[in-house]
Amino acid sequence: MTKDTACCPGAQWTRVADLGNAQAIDCALVRCSACGRPWMHLWTPYAPKESYSPLEDAAAAELAAMPPGPERKRKLCELLDL
Ligand SMILES: [Zn+2]
Repeated sequence: MTKDTACCPGAQWTRVADLGNAQAIDCALVRCSACGRPWMHLWTPYAPKESYSPLEDAAAAELAAMPPGPERKRKLCELLDL
């Protein structure tokens, strides 16, 4: 997983969609309010820190369109390299 990174300085995250969890990591699709770039917001109850990982536009669109289920979970694991 990539280390904590921010997108544009001072920008807020806009939550786009909840993606459920993969390997006990909760995932949500968010966008930078300044540039609109999609990121994955990751957090887990087992670690104190949350993190953000940049996403390709195509991957973000694909994830947002997928219904909850094993297929989406598999895609998350693939994207996050879990
Ligand atoms: Zn940005």
